[in-house]
Amino acid sequence: MTRITLVQGDITRQSVDAIVNAANSSLLGGGGVDGAIHRRGGPAILAECRKLRAGHLGRGLPTGQAVATTAGELDARWVIHTVGPVYSQSLDRSELLVSCYRESLRRADELGARTVAFPAISTGVYGWPMDDGARIAVATVRETDTAVEEVRFVLFDERAYEAFTSALT
Ligand code: ADP
Repeated sequence: MTRITLVQGDITRQSVDAIVNAANSSLLGGGGVDGAIHRRGGPAILAECRKLRAGHLGRGLPTGQAVATTAGELDARWVIHTVGPVYSQSLDRSELLVSCYRESLRRADELGARTVAFPAISTGVYGWPMDDGARIAVATVRETDTAVEEVRFVLFDERAYEAFTSALT
């Protein structure tokens, strides 16, 4: 059974096996949680992302997929980069958001990660409504068969923390 825990704070301050990054397809850095991870994790993460772009991810990482790199100077062994969908009023892109959580846990299992920290993917610049993003995150982790022992959602502000608390209960 995977334990789900909630923490309000900065994901770059977590001590876990793997930290999930809400990246963009370029894998070359961005704002929000992506910027924070690269800033605190140092240049080794970007160096590995560039290698991925020079290799099998020449066109970038597709939405809903996940790929792992070193965690650089973060207190973790890996960063798992996943690309959330941009929220759309007219299209239901929720399967892509589900896929982000599922594929990240799949990468974690391949690596042997037992503790994994997730941000609230897509709920920042990508505009996903927080309550719905929280519901999808919690439901997907609950439905995914994984050897990960702890999934820790790290929520940046109180509103996000409250949304995940409601989704859990
Ligand atoms: P996206 O492009 O997937 O929406 P963002 O990074 O813009 O990604 O936002 C995703 C979520 O991460 C938002 O809820 C945002 O408030 C949160 N966030 C931003 N910085 C951090 C951080 N350092 N630690 C944890 N969560 C963060």
